[in-house]
Amino acid sequence: MQLLASYLSGSWSQGSGPRTTLVNPATEAAVAEVATGGHDLAAAFTYARTVGIPALGALTFAQRGTLLGALAKAIHGAREELITMAVANGGNTRSDAKFDIDGGAMTLSYYAELGAKLGATTLLADGDPIQVGRTARMGGQHVWGRRRGVAVHINAFNFPGWGVCEKLACSLLAGMPTITKPATATALVGHRMVELFAPLLPAGALQLLVGPAGTLLDHLGPGDVVAFTGGSTTARMLRGHATIIEHSVRLNIEADSLNAAILGPDVELTSETGGLFLADVVRDMTQKTGQKCTAIRRVLVPAARESEVLDALKERLGGIAVGDPSRDDVRMGPLATAQQLRDVREGIARLAAETEAVFGGTGEVSPIGVPTGKGFFVGPVVRRAADPFGCKALHAHEVFGPVTTVGSYDGDAARAAAFVAQGEGCLVSSAYSDDRDWVASFVGAAGAWTGRLYLGSSKMAAQSPGPGTVLPSLVHGGPGRAGGGEELGGERGVHGYMQRVALQGDASVLKSLLGA
Ligand code: NAP
Repeated sequence: MQLLASYLSGSWSQGSGPRTTLVNPATEAAVAEVATGGHDLAAAFTYARTVGIPALGALTFAQRGTLLGALAKAIHGAREELITMAVANGGNTRSDAKFDIDGGAMTLSYYAELGAKLGATTLLADGDPIQVGRTARMGGQHVWGRRRGVAVHINAFNFPGWGVCEKLACSLLAGMPTITKPATATALVGHRMVELFAPLLPAGALQLLVGPAGTLLDHLGPGDVVAFTGGSTTARMLRGHATIIEHSVRLNIEADSLNAAILGPDVELTSETGGLFLADVVRDMTQKTGQKCTAIRRVLVPAARESEVLDALKERLGGIAVGDPSRDDVRMGPLATAQQLRDVREGIARLAAETEAVFGGTGEVSPIGVPTGKGFFVGPVVRRAADPFGCKALHAHEVFGPVTTVGSYDGDAARAAAFVAQGEGCLVSSAYSDDRDWVASFVGAAGAWTGRLYLGSSKMAAQSPGPGTVLPSLVHGGPGRAGGGEELGGERGVHGYMQRVALQGDASVLKSLLGA
């Protein structure tokens, strides 16, 4: 069986000590192993600082963009192989795997183009020149400059391909050498990506740690950045980490999220907007078996439409075949790990204590094409909350699987926004309405509680990717429970790996620094 190696200090090493086995979550068959230690992480940081920082610093944004373009091409060249790995190690259907891998390549291509646009420079203006003296001679200018540090990326299990790429696109474009750490359970895809990427990048620009983090964070210094995606418990530990506190290490957190979808009072379910709403809810429940940080967990619909919505969901979900994701007739695969299965079952049980079953009971399912008793399967589950505003489990625990809960309201936009707010901070929430006044009231009140607001309507329905798709051009992150972080969003995502400096001096000198 393959023992996955880490790529540290310019060479591949398998580590040592006890091993963890990566499995196929549909069959529980072993697919690879990783060693749980034995790496010289202090040396890896030194290598990044002494080799990676100068190598990337010698390049302009345009040149770094060219590198990102080459990484995107490398993914395209190995696409089938990566898809096969995602099916085998992630429980992904082919369609789920494409979502992850093509999403990664698309994000790299987007930032490659941004690099070309930023051009042959290494300093970026932040806003316009400001007069700060008695005359125009004394000026001020904010700029984004390079941080002299290392980016450490810690990724979640659910997007092993896209997760690596979206963080790497921004840190490399900003000129920071990067150490990436995929979640151990689904590390196969990220590992293969780094095998493809490493020969295309300057020495020291990219390193990979497979297996547990070990002492990784102990080597951080004041110029470094940690970008984390994962659960809130791990996030809490990172916030309290002594080295991160001591050096005020910049820490970006993408954590749990109880994303909401609201149906406006004006929408007939048979309309284009109503159809979009239903398609988005069903897609978010079943795509990647609901293991998307952006998936819709809470649904609020006008009381008069509730039974119609529940019937439509039942009908659509009834057609979803669950089983071995390598089969063409299967639409939804298993959860990614045995731990995930335990967590999702516990989450459903918590919801079940306060809600009634609408579809799928508590997730019992007989998966197609799987040996009896094997695999981490749970079927799609819809619950109904009679009192959606008072249902504690609904607003307190993210069930990271194919589970959603529906409740009803009076159609008031402020009430809908209050429902969003009860999640205490989301990555994304969505509202479906063609009534502009209702939408304006909703956005005004709900915007503070979510990183992205997706506004579904008849005018955009035909070209909508749904709220669950994270676009490189729009920020991804959210307040409160969602971690308080922010990634992507075009140039904003690159700024996360740069240092803003306020320059103050002769206005003509400031101008010349920016090449004007
Ligand atoms: P997790 O258990 O928190 O793990 C996330 C990452 O943290 C993994 O790479 C894990 O490594 C690493 N980690 C664990 N302990 C660590 C430590 N002491 N020091 C450094 N790294 C450590 O989360 P998960 O189970 O993979 O992901 C599920 C959660 O992620 C869900 O709650 C979901 O909401 C959230 N998520 C959020 C987003 C977003 O964009 N906001 C996206 C996807 C998922 P090992 O695997 O080696 O333990």
